[in-house]
Amino acid sequence: MTVEAGTQQERVAGRVWTVRLDPYGRPSAGAVKLSCSRPACADQCFPGGAAAGRKAAVEHVNLHLAHIRAGGGPRGEAWCACRAADCAWHTPDPTAGPRGGTRLAAGTVRCGGPVVLTVYADRAGRLWRIAEMCARCAAAIPDCRVLDTAPPPARTTRAGMDQAAGTPVTEREPAGDTALV
Ligand SMILES: [Zn+2]
Ligand SMILES: [Zn+2]
Ligand SMILES: [Zn+2]
Repeated sequence: MTVEAGTQQERVAGRVWTVRLDPYGRPSAGAVKLSCSRPACADQCFPGGAAAGRKAAVEHVNLHLAHIRAGGGPRGEAWCACRAADCAWHTPDPTAGPRGGTRLAAGTVRCGGPVVLTVYADRAGRLWRIAEMCARCAAAIPDCRVLDTAPPPARTTRAGMDQAAGTPVTEREPAGDTALV
């Protein structure tokens, strides 16, 4: 009964890249497998163990980040990828709560703010996740870093002002004799 008629903006699903390391083969062998959620990325195996796999995983994450930046960065019209996952990324597992607490119920954080490009790395060094999500969800996720902020969709007010500080600036105006008269 609450179908919203006339969505004013065509929005697209927020993109997610998940890179993970899993034990490969017999646990005693110590080999790990690097896998990426992108179908185009083939699994890689590292018989040498977790350290080599971790290094490769970080490089893989950076490779995707470079491609995302080259492709224009986060898109302002993207839906929050966190919300697409029922905000599970910042909602504690209810079965894991020490007090069975209800203090942080799902839905506590409402999506809001600009779309940001984030990278999350779990503390165990087994999972990395790049995602387009809203700024508010990003702020609610532990160990989640905001790398870039999308300009607002359609409207180009304050173009450039809302760019994240992380955007590398390679060209500089030479400070010189500018006559401002
Ligand atoms: Zn990949
Ligand atoms: Zn969320
Ligand atoms: Zn959100």
